Amino acid sequence: MHTDKENLDQFTLDFFNELFIDNANQPSHAQKKEIAELAGHADRQNLTSPIIELFIRLNTFQKKFQISPESFELSRKDLEKLAVKHQQIDEHSVSIGGRISKALPIVQEAIDRVDAYLTEKQEVAPSGMELWNTLLENKERIKTHLKISEDEWNTYPGQIKHCIDSIEELSKIIDLPPKVIKEVAHVTKTYRMRLTPYYASLIQPGAINDPILLQSVPTGEMVNNTGIEIPPVAADHSPARLIDQFYPRVVTIKATNMCAMYCTHCLRIAHIGKKDRIYSEEAYEEAFDYIRKNSRIRDVLITGGDAFVLPNKIIRKILAALDSIDHIKMKRLGTRIPVTAPQRVDNELLDILAESNDKKPVRVVTQINTAQEITPLSGDAFKRISKNVSAVLNQAVLLKGINDTRVKMWKLCETIQENYVRPYYIFNCSYRNPQFTHFRVPVEVGRDIVESMYGNISGDAIPRYIATAGGKIPLHKSNVRGAEDGNVILEKPWNGEVVNYPDADAAIYADANFSFHKP
Ligand SMILES: *Cc1c(COP(=O)(O)O)cnc(C)c1O
Ligand code: SF4
Repeated sequence: MHTDKENLDQFTLDFFNELFIDNANQPSHAQKKEIAELAGHADRQNLTSPIIELFIRLNTFQKKFQISPESFELSRKDLEKLAVKHQQIDEHSVSIGGRISKALPIVQEAIDRVDAYLTEKQEVAPSGMELWNTLLENKERIKTHLKISEDEWNTYPGQIKHCIDSIEELSKIIDLPPKVIKEVAHVTKTYRMRLTPYYASLIQPGAINDPILLQSVPTGEMVNNTGIEIPPVAADHSPARLIDQFYPRVVTIKATNMCAMYCTHCLRIAHIGKKDRIYSEEAYEEAFDYIRKNSRIRDVLITGGDAFVLPNKIIRKILAALDSIDHIKMKRLGTRIPVTAPQRVDNELLDILAESNDKKPVRVVTQINTAQEITPLSGDAFKRISKNVSAVLNQAVLLKGINDTRVKMWKLCETIQENYVRPYYIFNCSYRNPQFTHFRVPVEVGRDIVESMYGNISGDAIPRYIATAGGKIPLHKSNVRGAEDGNVILEKPWNGEVVNYPDADAAIYADANFSFHKP
């Protein structure tokens, strides 16, 4: 509340009335000494904080011990002088009453909402940065057991050469119970498993249902879940070779079917990871042709699989082809490689991205599902990518046991934001594939998690919550509770408080004659 420099506002008058309730209790010698010292500071210094401190203590003595300021030999006049001094010092003439009786309690209420998160976030959802020492020990263990040299570890070809694609390899590096070993051996006959040694080093030894393990090692549910698989975008959404199209102006080119790591919740499980295929030049050309001939298309997503699995020269070619089409204004590359094999992000790739980004914006869209996937290595990869493109965006999938609580999802969104990645979407895990029914989270649980972020974490760390069902359908809870007498009734997501929001006047809005356009 702003007020003029000389006069005390209503907040302060009310505050003083409560402060000066007459009470007979007398302060101790020590209490007297404390207040005398605070009053001295408030008088002598030309700062707001000594004045605030004095008033907070006086307020506490009155409320808790029923001792009024007069018992400290402070008159109402003395304190009014300090209150005026406070608002004269303050650049925005904030009154002492507003600050103590309104602003500070409001801040305290907000602090209480995030306290549980702040105490739990490291324990419940540690980032790969926080776990780094353990992860380095894992790395050494994996290097020894799989006979990987430090040089091989640090290169992408080395990571791919030594990737873990059988239960035999996996059991060399983590202790799994015999029952699990049998199960994984059985499932991997149908579904491909492949972890880079780097991604495997993110698994916390001994953690049951570790979020990295869950995302990368297929379990019995994948074959045992009942239900019929609804084929993903296929004939009905693919108007041309390699192209998927739901929207008039955005298309995807599925530029490869390979990934560095195969996710257990992969929406494209029917296409991805069955058999690595190198696509022919003609295939890309036919896709570009479709885009060239359809001048409504403005934004092209290069996906897969994983776009960064492609060799640099193919990425360069695809971007150059798109840059040469006038109606294409934006490009996106979909990749999880900064998370699964950050060694891939070499300087040549960055130069290619920068060169194309100079022509028309390039965005990199990634998938990070837990803070545990952000390590000094992936963080560095994202930082370097972000310097060379117009944005790095994250599409997380909401997954049971992985990121389905407020603490885990807040931590994910804050951690990626701190690492140059902007939370973009959270997908509700698809109903189309019985293979991952066991990972699904009810729509309402996701809504609660996303809603809980409003007002509690930075606005630009809050993603949109989406269901995929023939296109992306927003699942945001509406905060509009109704309308009455020209007011819209809104609910604050962070504390449920209902507020009346006066709507724009419909008659004024309908009047075309305004400002410079008057009859
Ligand atoms: C996700 C997706 C898009 C892009 O959607 P945006 O909301 O623009 O991010 C386009 N085409 C297909 C087939 C998609 O799956
Ligand atoms: S990176 Fe993407 S396309 Fe590849 S397996 Fe994971 S979810 Fe599927």
